[in-house]
Amino acid sequence: MGEMVFPSGCKGKLFSGEEPERARGPNLYALWADEFCSWKYQKATWDMLMFSLRKGASQTCITTTPKPSKLWREIQARDTSRVIKMRTYDNIANLSRAYIENIIKPYEGTTLGRQELDAEDLDNVDGALWTHELIEKYRWPSDKPLPNFTTVLIPIDPAATSKDTSDEAGIIPVAKAPCNCKGETQLHAFVLADYTLRGTPDQWAGAAINAMKQHHGDAIIGEANNGGEMVSTIIRYAAAERKMSIPCRLVWASDGKQTRATPIQMLYEQGKVHHVGNVPLLEDEMTTWIPGVGRSPNRIDSLVWGITELRLQSGSFFK
Ligand SMILES: [Zn+2]
Repeated sequence: MGEMVFPSGCKGKLFSGEEPERARGPNLYALWADEFCSWKYQKATWDMLMFSLRKGASQTCITTTPKPSKLWREIQARDTSRVIKMRTYDNIANLSRAYIENIIKPYEGTTLGRQELDAEDLDNVDGALWTHELIEKYRWPSDKPLPNFTTVLIPIDPAATSKDTSDEAGIIPVAKAPCNCKGETQLHAFVLADYTLRGTPDQWAGAAINAMKQHHGDAIIGEANNGGEMVSTIIRYAAAERKMSIPCRLVWASDGKQTRATPIQMLYEQGKVHHVGNVPLLEDEMTTWIPGVGRSPNRIDSLVWGITELRLQSGSFFK
């Protein structure tokens, strides 16, 4: 990746959690692993870096928001590890008022806030539909080639209003493909990435169009009775500005949020949904949202829309 040279002549090499193979080969004296729990391919990248850490005292410093991955628990439990926990509030004197108002306040008193602000290692949250173990169990291995996707959808759950800057537009691309992971061919769903953002309609339309290009999407989809008309109008406008033609479809909701989310959770339990790499913020929402308590987060809404639409297109999804 990149290289940093310090005034002393000491060199630092930069690697990415998205590209484990790039970490193959160097001879490192020390490692600083930042935001370790959010690396896309955490285990594969870590293993590769450990092979490279073969000089001097071979020390590693990990700085991260804690998230309950198996590897993170295992590293903390080692006799040779020293764990120091700090809360966001310990650093409050250095934070801007805008950060405190817009970022810290909304999380206060929430389960996710315990992780994000208080550095608590959350175990499974009672009442949440998903667990980390369930997502982890069927995560697509980083070294295994992906099957050929037959459909790729980019679902958008728009922010409540275009002026609502505190709300995010959920954009979670999903795909389906014939999959042999169970020893027979079944249609399975794949969760590809997270393009969710807090921004203007033009920004989220741009992010969705970018996702279409990156993942060779078939269509952008929006929920008809939750701002769907707005989604299609804005996408059409944003696409025209970019001199592109982007298919945008509306899907219809007949059930409540929890009713829609439950069959999708069942597909996870049946091992029919694979996350491609780590999708950390989506997985945070999935493992901390308790149906009926507060509105469902936008990433989950986007995910549920996307997989519901994939499932409706193919009856064999449930077999
Ligand atoms: Zn599969």
